Amino acid sequence: SKQIELVSRPEGMPQKSNFELRTTEVGPIQDGEILVKNRWMSVDPYMRGRMKDSDSYVPPFQIDQPLEGGCIGEVIQSQNADFEEGDMVLGNLGWREYWTSNGGGITKIDPTIAPAQAFLGALGMTGMTAWVGLHKIAQLKKGSTVFVSAASGAVGSIVCQLAKAIECRVIGSAGKQEKIQWLQDKTGIDAVIHYKEVDNLSQELAKHAPDGIDVYFDNVGSDHLEAAIDNMNDFGCCVECGMIATYNATEAPAAPRNLFKVIAKRLRIQGFIVRDHMDAKDEFVSDMAKLIQQDKVVWEESITDGIENAPNAFIGLFEGDNLGKQLVRLS
Ligand code: NDP
Repeated sequence: SKQIELVSRPEGMPQKSNFELRTTEVGPIQDGEILVKNRWMSVDPYMRGRMKDSDSYVPPFQIDQPLEGGCIGEVIQSQNADFEEGDMVLGNLGWREYWTSNGGGITKIDPTIAPAQAFLGALGMTGMTAWVGLHKIAQLKKGSTVFVSAASGAVGSIVCQLAKAIECRVIGSAGKQEKIQWLQDKTGIDAVIHYKEVDNLSQELAKHAPDGIDVYFDNVGSDHLEAAIDNMNDFGCCVECGMIATYNATEAPAAPRNLFKVIAKRLRIQGFIVRDHMDAKDEFVSDMAKLIQQDKVVWEESITDGIENAPNAFIGLFEGDNLGKQLVRLS
C-alpha cells in the first residue's frame, strides 16, 4: 500500500521535499476487522498545524510516519458483522491507499444522499464547520450583515449560502477572479471583494457594508481580521474559525493592530473547534440535506488525481489554487 509520510517539518511554506511517497504492507485482517481501500482523501489547512512539533488541539504528525486526515473508502474485506464488502465509510486514515480497522471511530455513509466525497465537504467536516460557526457560535439572526473571508473555499462557500438562506446581507472576499465570478454567479451573495486587488481592505469593506458588520466569519486572520474589526457594529461577533494567513508565518503577524476597538464596540471574539460540537451532527445533516434539496446550497470541488499528488494539493491550499473543497481522488 502506498502512503505519504512526513519526512521533515516545513519551515514557512510547505515544500514537496517535506513529503515522501513510501510503500508498506497492510493486512491480513483479523477477526472483527475490516480492510478499506481509500477512494477520496481530504487535504485541509489545519494539517499545517500538525506538521509543527508542538501540541495544539491535535497532536503533531511524526517524522517518517504517514500523515492522517479525513477519507472516504470502500470496505473490500470484512470480518466485522457491522460492515459488508462494498460499504462506503468515512474515516481518518487518509494519505494512504489501504487501512484496517476494528470499526471504532468510523462511520458508514449513504452515497444515495450525495456523492460519497461530499461527506468530506458540504455534508462533512467543512460544511459542519460553517454551520456550527454561524448557528452555534455567532447565533446568526435573520437580516444581519455578515462578512466572510476565504469565501469561495470549502468552509467559506457554505457560510455564504447558509447566511443567505436566512436572508442576511453577505459580503465575501477571495483572491482570484474565477472565485469572485463563482461567488457572484452561484451563491447569490451581495458583494464580493478581490482582496489582492484593493489598496485598503478596511475602506473597501466599509463601501460594501455602509451600516457595518454584525458577524465576521474569519477563515484568514491578520489583515482581514483587522478590516473586519474596523467595520464591526457594536456588540458584533467575530467567529474565529481559522487564520490561514498566519499558518506558514515565521514571525508574529503585523495585523490586527486595532484590537483596542473590541472594547468600545463591546465585540465578542470567539474561537471554536468543530469536533467539540459533534452532538449537533444529526441536526446539521438534516438541516443541510434540506437546503441542498431546495437548491439553496451548492458547492464546488477541486479534484487532484493520485495519492502521489496529495502534497501538491495540500500546498495549493496556501496558494489559493482551490475553488471549493480540495480533494484527492485515489485510483
Ligand atoms: P479553503 O477551501 O478555504 O482553502 C484555503 C483558502 O484560503 C485558499 O483557497 C485561499 O483562497 C485562502 N488563503 C490561503 N492563504 C491565504 C492568505 N495568506 N490570505 C488570505 N487567504 C488565504 O480551506 P477550508 O475551507 O478547509 O478552511 C478554511 C479555514 O477554516 C482555514 O483557516 C481552516 O484552518 C479553518 N477550519 C477551521 C475548523 C475549526 O474547527 N475551527 C475546521 C475546518 C477548517 P483565496 O484565493 O481566496 O485567497
